[in-house]
Amino acid sequence: MEILHVSAECYPVAKAGGLADVVGALPKYQQSLGHTAKVVMPMHRTKFLYNNEWEVVHKGSFRMGEMYLDFTIIKEKTNKLGFDLYCVDIYGLLDRERIYSYDDDTERFTAFQIAVTEWLSKWEHHPNVVHVHDHHTALIPFMMQYCFGYRHLSRIPTVLTIHNAQYQGWMGWDKATYLPAWDTWRWGLLDWSNTVNPLACGIKCADKVNTVSPGYMEELKREANGLESLFNFESGKCTGILNGIDYSVWDPATDTYILDNFTVKDLKHGKGLNKKKLCDDLGFDMQYPLIIFIGRLVHEKAADLLAEAISKAFEQTGHAFSCMILGSGEKEVENGLQRIQNDFIGYYHSQIEYNEKLSHQMYAGADFILMPSRVEPCGLNQMYAMRYGTVPVVRRTGGLKDTVIDFGEENGYGICFDKASVEDIVYSITRAVELYKDKTKLDEIRQRMMNINNSWETSAGKYIELYDSIYK
Ligand code: ADP
Repeated sequence: MEILHVSAECYPVAKAGGLADVVGALPKYQQSLGHTAKVVMPMHRTKFLYNNEWEVVHKGSFRMGEMYLDFTIIKEKTNKLGFDLYCVDIYGLLDRERIYSYDDDTERFTAFQIAVTEWLSKWEHHPNVVHVHDHHTALIPFMMQYCFGYRHLSRIPTVLTIHNAQYQGWMGWDKATYLPAWDTWRWGLLDWSNTVNPLACGIKCADKVNTVSPGYMEELKREANGLESLFNFESGKCTGILNGIDYSVWDPATDTYILDNFTVKDLKHGKGLNKKKLCDDLGFDMQYPLIIFIGRLVHEKAADLLAEAISKAFEQTGHAFSCMILGSGEKEVENGLQRIQNDFIGYYHSQIEYNEKLSHQMYAGADFILMPSRVEPCGLNQMYAMRYGTVPVVRRTGGLKDTVIDFGEENGYGICFDKASVEDIVYSITRAVELYKDKTKLDEIRQRMMNINNSWETSAGKYIELYDSIYK
């Protein structure tokens, strides 16, 4: 089967979060199952673009509202990622350093989607499935069915994967003219609460819709940033497939970013060396448990609670742990986390940036990872952490609920709590501090976690089953 993935991100080409990890790994695993998977994404100006060789495979043009745009599709020449990678270049729109957060993101991603559909419409053969990811690509199933010029694509089955339903790509109805001539009788498919809502449109038009964990799909039926009734109405075609992790990137035995490689057999020694390096760099005392947070510093991740919770936990435990934060996001949250730095010298450090290498070193060197998320569609951090013998301390929500069992339960290995509140976080940190003192238990838990198979193998197969169910 041939699958075309369409995405705004793909690791290691361009990454802002979990979406990139999924789109960088899933196609590779689909290839290893004997299928052909291809990825097409915008040509962001990242290091990967300049460090690799490309060939032009298609040139075209289209009209978007009042604009006439030329586009070029380039293909990476050496199959570096293990699958065919295509990038769409639209001069002045997609050739930028950041992936998101420009004022004209609506124009940028609408143009990207039109270019991909236009290109696809010119293929001599067609893929068996077009798999789109999140709202940046969710208008494609609509365009393939209801734009007059693309109707010959309407028989290709489409799948929409929702990595995060908080962001929906809303745009005013005035911008509906951006789409190539479409059947206006179908305006209701674009509409949600009097705006064009690309994510809602994708849910209505794709043949199958899935989220990145079963737990998150259930939650969306109750809380989905306005789309609850739609998820309930379309529940027949909606499923949850848990993300996996890419073992060729996230393996403490081979990870080139970390100081000392280790396996479950020499875990104590290996983790110890990685922890020592981090603690030495930060002036932390090795004898205390090291608790980390890695992620976007936003409300969704409950990052706004961290500064107060960490301060209170230091008070309550008598400074019996060290804490390191890596992330960037809302300015207020960043400032709050920086502000407490002077109060806890020798115990606490916040690094406000995006740093892939450092994140690997933290997963390897830490004892616990904190994830108090208000919303967590799947969460990859807890799976990476477990693979590196780092105990997840998580709020029971979405994918966190699906992947972490509290160590108080049978065969458990993590620390779970119910509320995204300062009190629950502080209480969970005190549980972590206590667990750290019981070295036999801690060792048993670490071994159990490292032996869990969270690889993409199982989930990649589930996607193939999903495609099979709609493959006409
Ligand atoms: P989300 O996609 O909602 O941000 P996920 O848990 O699905 O969350 O994926 C987060 C991914 O982004 C992980 O690979 C994590 O290590 C990475 N990440 C997040 N913030 C940073 C950062 N500041 N530096 C390095 N990696 C980060």
